[in-house]
Amino acid sequence: MRFPVPLLCLFLITASIFAAEKGSTSEKRSARNSLPAAGVLLTFDDRNMNQWVKQIPLFRKYNAQVTFFVDHFHTLTPQQLEALQQLKAAGHTIGCHGLKHRKAVDYVRAQGMERYLKDEIEPAVKQMTDAGFPPTCFAYPSSSRNEEIDQALLKTFRHLRGGTGLSAGQRMRDLKSIYVPIDQIASTGCLIGTGIDYAGTEKRPDYLTEIKDAMDHAKQRGEIVVFYAHNISDEGPEHHLQPLVLEAILAHAQQIGLATLTYDDLP
Ligand SMILES: [Zn+2]
Repeated sequence: MRFPVPLLCLFLITASIFAAEKGSTSEKRSARNSLPAAGVLLTFDDRNMNQWVKQIPLFRKYNAQVTFFVDHFHTLTPQQLEALQQLKAAGHTIGCHGLKHRKAVDYVRAQGMERYLKDEIEPAVKQMTDAGFPPTCFAYPSSSRNEEIDQALLKTFRHLRGGTGLSAGQRMRDLKSIYVPIDQIASTGCLIGTGIDYAGTEKRPDYLTEIKDAMDHAKQRGEIVVFYAHNISDEGPEHHLQPLVLEAILAHAQQIGLATLTYDDLP
C-alpha cells in the first residue's frame, strides 16, 4: 500500500511528536525518582482541603510540594474534591488516612488484621482511586501502628507515616526516629514524623526555632526529616499551623538548600 507524500509526512511528524512527548514523560519520572542530597517532608492530615487549597500560591512561591493525607474520602463534598484536584494539579501528593480514621492497633486487636484491611484500608483506596487519586502512601490516624500492621499495609502502599513527640527537655534534633538517611529511604517503609501544629504560637513559642534546627540537622547529615500538621490557618479550634509560620519553614528550606519533597517523590 502506497501513501500519498503529504499524508506520509503528516504521519512521520505525528509519530515524532508522540516519541518526543513519551521521552519527556519518562525524563520527568526519572527526575522525580532521583532524590536530592537531603530533604524535608511536610505532611498535613484530615480534611482541611478548603483551607489547604488557599496556600497553593505560598507553596508555589517557594517551589515547594507537600503531602496531604485524607480520611473519610467517601464523605467529601464536590467543593472539597475540587480543592484536592487543585492541590494535585499544583504538584502536591494526596495520600490515604483511612476510611474512617480508625486507630489501627485498637481495630486490629479487636477485629483482626483481615477485617481492618477490609473495613478501613481497601474501601478507602478504592474510593480514592475511583476519584482519580490512587494513593501510594498512608498516614496512621493518631500514629497508632506496629510492625505487623506496617508489613500488611506495605503490600498496598510504598511508604507509611507514623508519629512521635518530644519528651520533656528533649530537642527535636535528638529525636532520632524522624530522620532517615537519603540512601535508606527506599528500604524504610514507615517514616516517622513529629507534629508541628502551633509552632510559633503562645502554645509552642520556641518550636519554630526547633524546626529550623531540625532542618539544618537533616541538611548537614544528608537525611530526610518528616513533619506533620493539620489545618493551615491563623485560628483554631482544630490543630493548625499558621500560614506565616509555614512560610518561615518554607523560606528556611529554600535558604539552606533543603528540598521539600512529597511521598510520591520517594522511591
Ligand atoms: Zn488524622
